[in-house]
Amino acid sequence: MNIFSRKQSEKSHQTIFTADIHGVIPQYKKLLAYAKKIKADQIILGGDITPKTARGLDLIVSQRDFLIQDLSRMFSNLKNDLPNTGIYVLFGNDDAKANHDLFVADEIEPYTAIHGKRLPIADGLEIVGYSYVPMSPWGLKDWDKFDYGKVVDISDQRLIEMNLERMDYGIRTSGFESKDVSKGEKEKFKLIRVGKQDLLHKGSISFDLQSPIYLQNPEKTIFVAHAPPYGHLDVARTSNGGGLFAKPIKDRLIHAGSVAMLEYIEKTQPFLTLHGHIHSTVKRTGEYKTNIGNTISMTAGNSPRTNNLAILVFDLYNPQEAQRIIL
Ligand SMILES: [Zn+2]
Repeated sequence: MNIFSRKQSEKSHQTIFTADIHGVIPQYKKLLAYAKKIKADQIILGGDITPKTARGLDLIVSQRDFLIQDLSRMFSNLKNDLPNTGIYVLFGNDDAKANHDLFVADEIEPYTAIHGKRLPIADGLEIVGYSYVPMSPWGLKDWDKFDYGKVVDISDQRLIEMNLERMDYGIRTSGFESKDVSKGEKEKFKLIRVGKQDLLHKGSISFDLQSPIYLQNPEKTIFVAHAPPYGHLDVARTSNGGGLFAKPIKDRLIHAGSVAMLEYIEKTQPFLTLHGHIHSTVKRTGEYKTNIGNTISMTAGNSPRTNNLAILVFDLYNPQEAQRIIL
């Protein structure tokens, strides 16, 4: 029995969660077909939704076209059959931030972007999104932030040590950010080179998660973050050579999650947290669901390398019963 049992008996809240589709159309088609089959009430996408096939300026423009055309068309099609299904979408570190203005301007109708927003999702439940990831080994730095940066006022020495330990292993602290430079349509966007100082000035994940948006109503909160918390749902394999960004736990396996996000979940105890980013963690550990205190945290462990789509299916009020399905 849980606190939501009464609501649950009134209506089922079939929810599908996945992440890291990276624009793979066969995976989107499977997602939509399955959503229609089970008459999903909610679809939640936890980041890295657009393709990363193009480079440079083309990356921004091709992702923009995908958001406006492909994704809109697919979700509009779903809404024809299931008009009441809520579709919640989060950007991830591979989704160019310059395109997030599409959501500020409210140009995209059939789905809702959730980064930095808290929205009602069902009776007594709210969804809140967070796109930033801890400093990564990759070059697009739009959504990379230091876990703590200049914020030093944390009580737990252990968290500081974990953060520093990871920095010793060569995370990439320079790269590019996508910017709207608005010089007319043709030159609207640019990738701009950034270094460590620029990235430090962005603040930190710890600072962001102290905002009231993330702290209020934890017992009602579904926190959707692209990155997982450090030590949970976050086991990745390092590449040979330069890609190391954490101390290996075994062979070349590392914990790649966010230390500040772990601290946030431990202290705030949201009802449910959903994560993506580390495509291979379920493959390597078998774990897609875990408890952090009273919080249930889950990942789909989806990889865009094949057309097989990994999803979580669950009743929004009963996430502990979630099943992971490969389509
Ligand atoms: Zn990804």
